[in-house]
Amino acid sequence: MLLRLKWQMAASDGDLVAAFLNEIQEDPTLEADLVEDITSTFTDNVQHWKFPEEHKLSSPLTDALECTFPELVNSVYRAAVGLRRVRAMLIGVNVRLNLRGAHRSMGEALNLVIGELELLSLAGEHVATDAPLRSSFPEEEDDGRGPWSSPAGEPLSPKQIVWLADLCRKHPDSSIGYADGISAHSTPPQLVTERIKARKDRLIRTQQYREIEEQMRKAMAQSCPRCNSAPGEFCRSRAGKETTMHKGRYTMAAG
Ligand SMILES: [Zn+2]
Repeated sequence: MLLRLKWQMAASDGDLVAAFLNEIQEDPTLEADLVEDITSTFTDNVQHWKFPEEHKLSSPLTDALECTFPELVNSVYRAAVGLRRVRAMLIGVNVRLNLRGAHRSMGEALNLVIGELELLSLAGEHVATDAPLRSSFPEEEDDGRGPWSSPAGEPLSPKQIVWLADLCRKHPDSSIGYADGISAHSTPPQLVTERIKARKDRLIRTQQYREIEEQMRKAMAQSCPRCNSAPGEFCRSRAGKETTMHKGRYTMAAG
């Protein structure tokens, strides 16, 4: 519950949180320990959280929904709650069906979502609190590529952030906060880069298909030099069966 509250607070503005804290502090039904926990979670931690935000990172992508990191974590949390609800509904549905397969699939999805939620919230806290991370991966030190925090480095995954924070606790030498490490370079997030590239490739393919179609249309408007099919008629094999267009008819249309 505290985890959820923490991220909900991180996504809310200060006034809203202050009003909420006021309310729980005056609620006689809540235990003092819980009120204290919630209050200190926000005042000692969450209100000092700071994310290295950059707007319009994904602006060329129409299917991107720009949001803050706490908004993302809260959304993943709601997805897990939704999946849990679906599982209960699969058991409770009032029609006689075997839904074991669906129940198992939803369970697998739920486990995956919960795993990502844990990683995202843990890594997010490291980022937001500027926790020290090891400035390079152990295997990076020999391959000459430079550390992740160098200008050539790429944004890290939540798993890598958690790992580097762990490494740093064991070997505190050479550490850097995520915001500082990432500020040295301008490489966009991999997911964005990949999607921009995929979109470009798709546009190129669409253009190529269009050109092929246009050439086929031109070729159909002429007779075939090989099988002598008349304009508008399909090519025919020697046996007289309709066949795919003869190459000569297609290439002639290009000239
Ligand atoms: Zn032909």
